[in-house]
Parts: sequence; C-alpha cells; structure tokens
Amino acid sequence: MLAQPRTLSSIAHELGVTRPDVEEHVRHLLKSARASGRRVSVEPARCRSCGFRFDESKLTKPSKCPDCKGSHVYEPLIQIAP
Ligand SMILES: [Zn+2]
Repeated sequence: MLAQPRTLSSIAHELGVTRPDVEEHVRHLLKSARASGRRVSVEPARCRSCGFRFDESKLTKPSKCPDCKGSHVYEPLIQIAP
C-alpha cells in the first residue's frame, strides 16, 4: 500500500476510515517496517507560501504554517520501500 509515496488522507479515503484511525495504523506500519529493516521515507509537510518544512514526525497535514501563518500546506508523503 505504501510502495508509492502517499498522503494520509488518500490512504484514509482508500480504506474508508477516518484520519485519526489511519494515522495510528500508519504509525504502526512504519514502526514495524523500520523494525524489519525496510526503508521508510517521510517527505515532511511543507508550506506552499514560504517553503517552511515541518517536522517529519508529523504525519498529518498541519492546519497552518507557524512561520508565515499561511494555511496552504502540502501534506506529508509517506513511503515504505518494498
Ligand atoms: Zn509559511
């Protein structure tokens, strides 16, 4: 499911579950993938206006940029190498 970079909301949409549920599920997936030595990459959320990069531990889309207060933020992309 995460062989291609995906956002949490697209995964939630595909599975028909809510974002908090999918976040928990994905955190668990990432943890077990790392534990089994697979490469996990998270492209952190980024502000469209000023380019501010959020912490990559944050998997959900932040509602607003702490730097420029803009609300146009790219969602983080999560990928687990097959
Ligand atoms: Zn910004």
